[in-house]
Amino acid sequence: MAAGASSSSLTSPLTEEEITLTVKWSGKEYTVRLCGDDSVGELKRRICQLTTVLPKRQKLLYPKIGSKLADDSTLISTLPLKSSLKMTMIGTVEDDIIVDEIDAPDIVDDFEIGQEEAVDIKDKDVNKQKLRRRVDQYKIELKNPCRKGKKLLVLDIDYTLFDHRSTAENPLQLMRPYLHQFLTAAYAEYDIIIWSATSMKWVELKMEQLGVLSNPNYKITALLDHLAMITVQSDSRGIFDCKPLGLIWARFPEFYSSKNTIMFDDLRRNFVMNPQNGLTIRPFRKAHANRDSDRELVKLTQYLLAIAELDDISILDHNKWESYDESNFKRRRQT
Ligand code: MG
Repeated sequence: MAAGASSSSLTSPLTEEEITLTVKWSGKEYTVRLCGDDSVGELKRRICQLTTVLPKRQKLLYPKIGSKLADDSTLISTLPLKSSLKMTMIGTVEDDIIVDEIDAPDIVDDFEIGQEEAVDIKDKDVNKQKLRRRVDQYKIELKNPCRKGKKLLVLDIDYTLFDHRSTAENPLQLMRPYLHQFLTAAYAEYDIIIWSATSMKWVELKMEQLGVLSNPNYKITALLDHLAMITVQSDSRGIFDCKPLGLIWARFPEFYSSKNTIMFDDLRRNFVMNPQNGLTIRPFRKAHANRDSDRELVKLTQYLLAIAELDDISILDHNKWESYDESNFKRRRQT
């Protein structure tokens, strides 16, 4: 550390420069490091890593700039932060996280990002930088080794594998039908990673309750949570979080790439950094009414296995997965 650094007041404009902040919470102090072009949303994510208080539960206090801290899209470089002042966070760790998930306000409905804008978001330098930083920060713990020669299936949880809004005495009643059959069949050709926009505590609990982590017929390679996501900005839709698969590709380049990865999620915007690798699954809601009729995972099993023989599955249009015809596809490729 340079001797003069402690006396310098950290004022804008700062972008690439690192900023060190002291955040007080619950009688303790935490050190958070940020870049000027990080947003308040990112700051909350870092604080969550240290305190486990979810970003949506955090209220940040700082002399004179309280209102700007309420907006997740505010860039840190625009705030007059001083190294001599401390930030205070008020927020509670989730104790009963299941109740919380049900009580939480309804998620924002999915929205379409136009094709052109999506390309724009993915190619923006600022987003590539965010991804690089996430690659440096986020540690993926392997539950089981990656397997050579397998493709990669990345799965969302809420509304994809599980109806998290309905209530039931037993979580198994809210599990999407055919989940274990689906995972068993997919495992023959794909390594499986679960990626949910909630906390790791909840991801693990949910997967355990559904028996996904203990099923003898398949193995889960890794679990990822909301801290692995990045926040991007779109002109038409403002800021939102997404799941950049580049994080996984950067970590395991000898196994996974854009060519052999497919992600299922009920929210299309989660694919915005890798639109060619996303398949928008029909949401599984109202489990009690739909449990007997939902066959989405059966149909998707057929698709997954049919495309598994292709060297590059990113050339497909996964929006049209239901009309995918293997023989047609092969014929077209030959001509
Ligand atoms: Mg979901």
